[in-house]
Amino acid sequence: MVATREWSRLMVADRLGLYVHIPFCPQRCPYCAFAVVTGRMDMTEGYVQAVCDELVWSASSPSWGNRGPFDTVFFGGGTPSRLAPKLIARILETANRIHGIRQGAEITLEANPTTADAQRFGEFRDAGVNRLSIGMQSLVDETLLLLGRTHSAADAIHAYSLARQIGFRSVNCDLIFSVPAEPAAALATTIEQLLVLEPDHISAYALSVEKDTPFHRRRLQGDLPEVDEDDDATQFAQVRQHLTRAGFEQYEISNFSRPGHRCAHNWDCWTGGEYLGIGLSSHSFVEGERWWNLSDLDRYCQALQGGVSPRSGSEAIGPRKKREERIWLGLRTCEGVELEAGELAAMQSSTQMGILLSSGRLTLERQRLRLVGENFAIADAVAATLIETLERDVAVAGCP
Ligand code: SF4
Repeated sequence: MVATREWSRLMVADRLGLYVHIPFCPQRCPYCAFAVVTGRMDMTEGYVQAVCDELVWSASSPSWGNRGPFDTVFFGGGTPSRLAPKLIARILETANRIHGIRQGAEITLEANPTTADAQRFGEFRDAGVNRLSIGMQSLVDETLLLLGRTHSAADAIHAYSLARQIGFRSVNCDLIFSVPAEPAAALATTIEQLLVLEPDHISAYALSVEKDTPFHRRRLQGDLPEVDEDDDATQFAQVRQHLTRAGFEQYEISNFSRPGHRCAHNWDCWTGGEYLGIGLSSHSFVEGERWWNLSDLDRYCQALQGGVSPRSGSEAIGPRKKREERIWLGLRTCEGVELEAGELAAMQSSTQMGILLSSGRLTLERQRLRLVGENFAIADAVAATLIETLERDVAVAGCP
């Protein structure tokens, strides 16, 4: 268990998150564009040493410095559950020693159903993990095959049952919809079975075919059909309706939770909280700056062995960029976005925004603009319109 201690350092932001990227996967799923390393399990000890070195290094970096303690920790991947639990424990102990982890912090670990094992899950819990996110994706074997997943629906249900037996305080299940050539009833079957399991949280994403993936190459060759926009919207509505009817709150466009089970880590990231990203290709954010790490495993480890920063890039987040992100992310959440007085006036002078407001798809309460329910589907389009409106207003007013 993580030993939490009194922490006297200056806390800069209200909420602080730690993201740790664990890149190891047995093989790459054909739709996956994440920073993943296949095989190379002999590298896990060395990688975890590099992660711990980076945590130590971050305390002296001018960007992160003495921020702490963390309110949330998220092990993402890749497949963090492939790592030996003692290595997860070592990372948590180092994070706690260097920056602090607040007592009661949400500590999430992504788990692949193929790694489900009572002893392993129990040791993750003993290391301090209290929230498990299971990469189920579907509960229909045919869909799992189409996705190139190496587990069955039965494996996914077994992993979920084990997580419950072990006593994680919160369990998320990941779900993918809009899978090309998926049998017509498959999504309904998955949702139905998922609801029987009674998870605390469900993340549901439409399959996105990213460049340079096997799925993308198949699509270019005409071997992978497109899911047209209408089907995609219908499936999104199907997911939303079933989950909200079953008592889940859609607190973000793709995330549904039972009361008290929102993912605090992601929520903080979406609402402007600062986070430190450790590990391969991970991103960090503090007020005014974002930076990201090298994406090559050997170069990442070598940099830290040599006492060199593993950063590969950074960007300043000026007022304009900050506003854009606040709007993009805010409109995708149930809280919407709080407009400043000038932004409110500019928005109210826009014909397009006026049409959206009078249609009832967008609501304005005091200065808070919000999309709800099925209207989440137009979040990106509304954000683009609003940002364009505000940019135009700035240009007219002659501000920089
Ligand atoms: S298990 Fe997840 S991270 Fe690993 S290859 Fe598949 S989609 Fe990518």
